[in-house]
This record gives sequence, C-alpha cells and structure tokens, in this order.
Amino acid sequence: MKNDTTNKPYINELVINWHITEACNYNCTYCFAKWGKPNELHRSLESIENLLDELASHFIKGSSSFKEKFGYESVRLNIAGGEPMMLGSTFSIVLMLAKQKGFQTSIITNGSYLLNEKFDIPKNTLDMVGISFDSQDYDIRKKIGRVDRKGNSLSSDELKLALSKLEKTQKGIKTKINTVVNQFNWQEDFSSLISEIKPYKWKVLHVMPYGDDDLLISNGQFNSFVEKHLGRDLPVYAESNSAMTESYLMIDPKGRFYQNSSGGSGYKYSECINDVGAGKALEQINFNHAVFIARYFPVEGISIVENEGAA
Ligand code: SF4
Repeated sequence: MKNDTTNKPYINELVINWHITEACNYNCTYCFAKWGKPNELHRSLESIENLLDELASHFIKGSSSFKEKFGYESVRLNIAGGEPMMLGSTFSIVLMLAKQKGFQTSIITNGSYLLNEKFDIPKNTLDMVGISFDSQDYDIRKKIGRVDRKGNSLSSDELKLALSKLEKTQKGIKTKINTVVNQFNWQEDFSSLISEIKPYKWKVLHVMPYGDDDLLISNGQFNSFVEKHLGRDLPVYAESNSAMTESYLMIDPKGRFYQNSSGGSGYKYSECINDVGAGKALEQINFNHAVFIARYFPVEGISIVENEGAA
C-alpha cells in the first residue's frame, strides 16, 4: 500500500477470497474450514455466474467503497477451500468465467491434484498459486493430517514437479508457499527447498488453536522458526497468531460475506450475495476499513482476506 498525491491510501490489487467448498481430501488437525456441510453455491453454474457478475459489477465496474477508499487497479479472486480442485471441471469453469469477467485469479490448494494426469487447469487462467506445504517429512505430514484416506501426501519432489508443470500451462504464474508452523515442524529447516522453488512469497503462519492442542507452539518457538530462515535470501512473510485474529473479509461456500465478529464470538455472516447484491451484503457485516488499513499497511498487493489458510 502507498499513498497517492491526494494522500489517500492506495493499493494495487484487491483480493477477494472465496472459500468455494469445505470438502477436502486431507484432514489437517488445525483445519478451520468448517461450515457444517452447507448447500454450496458452486453446485449451480448459474449461481456461480451470478456471484461472479455481482462481484465484478461491484468491485471492478462499479464504484465500491473499497475503490473509493483505496483506488485499486485490479481485483483478484482467490479460490480457497477446503480443496478447490476437488470440484474438477466446475473449478475450471470458475477460473474461465472469472477471467472473462476481468478478475485476476489465484488458488490456495494442498497441491495433491496438481499432478493428476486427468485434470489440467485450462491454459492461462491462473495468475497465482498458493500451495500449503508443512513438512518435507512424510511422517510429520501424516501426524498433522496432511494425507488422504489412502495415506498419499504431496512430497517435496512432487511439489517441485507440480510447480514446473503449472509453469508450462500458466504463463507468468506467481507461486506462493504457505507453511503452518506447529509442534511437529517448528524445528525443520526449509531453506534449501524454498531456495530451489524460489516462490514469490513464502508465508509462514503460527498455527491457530483450532482442533488439536498438541499442535500448538509458543511465540518463542514460532519466532525461532522464523529467525532460523531470516537472512538467507528467502521471501519469508511471517504471520503471528495475534495478526491472524484481526478482522478479515471472506466469502463462504454458500456465497455470503463473513468475518470474525467483534469480541471473538465466532463469525458474522451477510445474506447471500446473490440474493441481496454485493454492496448490501458487504454493509451487513460492517466491514471495518480502519482495521483493514492497519493490518496491511505497508504491504503492497493487499488482500482483504489474507486468512486463506485452508488447504
Ligand atoms: S487445512 Fe487445507 S488441506 Fe488441510 S484439511 Fe483443511 S482444507 Fe484440507
């Protein structure tokens, strides 16, 4: 974020995070992507198109309050989950439609479907990929729950392979790696893997207290993980536990905006965006621009929904 000549805060890119499904082939103990198996919007192509039209007309073509406040140049639709690639052809359609309607696109994935021979992401529909990767050691990934029912889990070699495959079909794609630091991996050294992959960003997140307390670590343990990787020319972006409990804006699988309610008492949801329109739905969650600015200043390429941890 920077200031323009009128001293208004200015961001290059607005990111809208759509948790399109809660379904996932992995079962991470820290996963917070739970909505109680709702009637997910993606089951109807018409609803998908309506939602993307609503978002495009409000955030891209219209004069949204975000646009007035931040004057962003582009809007990125970040598809998260659950595991979005479990939706197969529907996922491809979402990407193609999003592109047609003028969005930049990104996905947060556990990467397990990226090597599936039967499933290719349509050419040049993806601008950025975020892959969650927590350990180079299979046993640790298994302890965390980052395995499917058959015990398969993306290895570091498969991660490299998946990225090189993506680079062939998605011109200029940016890569981000997300690592949730927890009791099992906080002493692990990722330096050579991250140096080899050369992601645009390596986001390291302090595990949140969802699910299994055995995974939790102290601030000191988290800081020691971060410090070990600093000064090695790695694009480390650390996110502490306290930063992650700030205000966020997201869209849930039913197509509603939601964010943490004040006082930490769960989430506050809007009505469905397709029923009331994006502008009204946004008003219903009382989105706090001040918290938004405070949280992301001075990061460039702002995300209003950076808590994209699932997958
Ligand atoms: S954290 Fe991500 S990969 Fe793990 S179970 Fe949740 S959605 Fe799946």
